[in-house]
Amino acid sequence: MAEINGNFLNLEESYLFSDIAKKVAAYQKAHPEKRVIRLGIGDVTLPLTPSVTAALHAAVDEMGKAETFHGYGPEQGYDFLRNEIAAYYQSRGVELDAGEIFVSDGAKSDIGNITDLFSSENTALIPDPVYPVYVDTNLMNGRRIVYLKAGESNGFLPMPPAEAKAGLIYLCSPNNPTGAVYSKEQLEKWVEYALDCGAVILFDAAYEAYIADPSLPHSIYEIKGAERCAIEFCSLSKTAGFTGTRLGYTVVPYALTAAFGGKEVSLNRLWLRRQTTKFNGVPYIIQKGAQAVFSPEGQKETQELVTYYMKNASVIAEALSAKGIPYVGGINSPYIWMKCPEGLKSWEFFDELLNRCSVVGTPGAGFGANGEGFFRLTSFGNHQDTIEAMERFSAAF
Ligand SMILES: *Cc1c(COP(=O)(O)O)cnc(C)c1O
Repeated sequence: MAEINGNFLNLEESYLFSDIAKKVAAYQKAHPEKRVIRLGIGDVTLPLTPSVTAALHAAVDEMGKAETFHGYGPEQGYDFLRNEIAAYYQSRGVELDAGEIFVSDGAKSDIGNITDLFSSENTALIPDPVYPVYVDTNLMNGRRIVYLKAGESNGFLPMPPAEAKAGLIYLCSPNNPTGAVYSKEQLEKWVEYALDCGAVILFDAAYEAYIADPSLPHSIYEIKGAERCAIEFCSLSKTAGFTGTRLGYTVVPYALTAAFGGKEVSLNRLWLRRQTTKFNGVPYIIQKGAQAVFSPEGQKETQELVTYYMKNASVIAEALSAKGIPYVGGINSPYIWMKCPEGLKSWEFFDELLNRCSVVGTPGAGFGANGEGFFRLTSFGNHQDTIEAMERFSAAF
């Protein structure tokens, strides 16, 4: 009889979003006259921009003609897109070869799949609270996890531990759920630590486009030496509204190696081998849409999307500041991580916010033990609704 990978039995069921949905449905049933506003959305709401949809339409037409039809493409992405991504990095002073960039159907897949390259004997350092994918994919591999406490005392930005020598280090900046962003100096410490213990940093830059402060790094490769110790994941999901369209990219530098039997093995070659074996590339049509994101017009439109969401973030931030409620995020991130007022726990505040204001957010405890007592608000909603939600909040708390 076939046996399963028993590690799957170590995964905890996640009821966070289903519990929220149940509570909101029950509330709406009891109060049909109330208009519920959701500030808990972890998905974008604005549509694809005109230059992207034009490129998608044109690519569909190409696929319908024998002369311009595309079948299987390169697994790691078409050069036209990899070159655009390399140029995007170059605009920030990061020199990458197109061969170091791998196009995929999103950051989540790559973050999960990258664990294929590493021994399950490695220890993974993972912040808490955290994007649940890092934890679950390591549990599936049976890897030991050491949690890095992110709390008020470190501004929700954990720094390298004094003791534990890690194999893998997960960093997400700007962070989901906390919205906190590492400074250049802080990332330099992480790079130094990783080089020192031979660890690989898995850097999730899915929200880099939201960074407004020019002194903050968008990419781990803005730090010297990171090309020898880091893999970076990025995505057009939150940047250009591609959550349903699907396109991400992962950078695995040529200079990056990991050990096997006393030898150094290129992770770029390993990832190429893994992708060409298990993945057959992103649809040509979608890659053409992604290429349009990197055009000057596409970049302008993308900036407009980000600006719209960031206006929501400031509405939320101002309302919290006016009440003297501590929070992080919101300036360089679409997420705001607030301390629950009145000494409430995460789920207690969820209930109070729903009952008093008909507003929905996400309890911080759902992202890890250290999230208890905190709450995540997002700026992905409609602007008028965000204003109304925060007016209701200001009147009720
Ligand atoms: C949304 C998100 C991503 C992007 O995932 P995709 O699969 O590209 O849609 C990656 N990391 C974090 C932390 C996210 O919140």
